[in-house]
Amino acid sequence: MKEGSNRPGHRIETLAIHAGQPPDPATGAVVTPINMSANFEYVDLEETRTEYGYARLKAPTRDALEACLAAIEGAEHGLAFSSGIAATDVILRTLAPGDHVMATHDLFGGTYGLFENVLRPRGLDFSYVDMTDLAAVEADFRPRTRLLFVETPTNPLLQIIDLTRICEAAHRRRAKVVVDNTFATPVLQRPLELGADIVLHSTTKFMGGHSDLMGGALMLDDADDYTAFKFLQYQAGAIPGAFDCWLMLRSLKTLVVRVERGCESARRIAAFLDGHPAIAAVYYPGLADHPGHALAARQMDDFGTMIAFQPKGGKEAASRIFRAVRLFIRASSLGAVESLIVYPSSGPHIATKDTELALPPDLLRLSIGLEHVDDLIEDLDQALAEN
Ligand SMILES: *Cc1c(COP(=O)(O)O)cnc(C)c1O
Repeated sequence: MKEGSNRPGHRIETLAIHAGQPPDPATGAVVTPINMSANFEYVDLEETRTEYGYARLKAPTRDALEACLAAIEGAEHGLAFSSGIAATDVILRTLAPGDHVMATHDLFGGTYGLFENVLRPRGLDFSYVDMTDLAAVEADFRPRTRLLFVETPTNPLLQIIDLTRICEAAHRRRAKVVVDNTFATPVLQRPLELGADIVLHSTTKFMGGHSDLMGGALMLDDADDYTAFKFLQYQAGAIPGAFDCWLMLRSLKTLVVRVERGCESARRIAAFLDGHPAIAAVYYPGLADHPGHALAARQMDDFGTMIAFQPKGGKEAASRIFRAVRLFIRASSLGAVESLIVYPSSGPHIATKDTELALPPDLLRLSIGLEHVDDLIEDLDQALAEN
């Protein structure tokens, strides 16, 4: 355990419950208190009573969360933000005009929107590459490539990128690697162990897990990068509030069991869809014929809870299925206790519409929650029956 606790135990199940959260020294409270104070007392002109002065700079409940986030990802440092996009923005702000970022060509639409609509106009250069093809990655390096921005599994097509080899290629060119680990979570994949420099999360998803809070996180070992990101965290101010930090801490305690159960159900649902006559294609790395299956089996501890598919019959069929589900909730986001179905092209990936990153027009994405798996399969079965 690297931060925040002197208790024994270094496995993720244990860290998710205890790291950064010893019983409150003042009261013995088992649960980390929510400290809502925005400001903290001074005792002299330049001296605060404790390490705290103003909550944008440093706050007790956020400190507890950041220690826990670092510990579960096996990182020296953790930083919490008000959203995943805010965390992404902080990394990119450390680059200079003219710098180049190479990103996966299957990419969360909000990230693509930040890159193209906010950061490119300010002078950063971006390219989008199929990173399952290492030769394509090698060919895309430029003199000012500073960063590789990698999703794996990618959102929403569930491609698997070889992190060890991507990190080797990047480091030979003195570029850093950011891995958006939102889909896998540290329960299934630990990019820092595979050579990545920075791990990014939308904690809105699995980490929060209940569709009721937004957040982002950065985990990393490098002290200089940490100092730069910490500076931007308070200087640009995209911090989470104390209540959201507390909710996140509460959610993290069950992260491992939620993800493990979700994987079990997703495996069965993917197999059901794969064999269904109304389905044209299923994207799930746990299927033996998925092109990234062998790599996922090495790089991850399980295959995740996200599934994408294309029905036979094109966009009309997709629309019929989307409207016909009764238990799956038609909503954006993912990684929640509720199972969700989304049409990525209109929701989370709207920014990629009519661009080189546009998705197949009949693609649907499922996020498998914690309902009984047979109920979920029955729901899909009745929705597919009409096709
Ligand atoms: C949702 C998401 C993000 C962005 O996070 P927000 O919390 O919505 O800002 C980034 N990456 C992936 C893979 C996501 O699914």
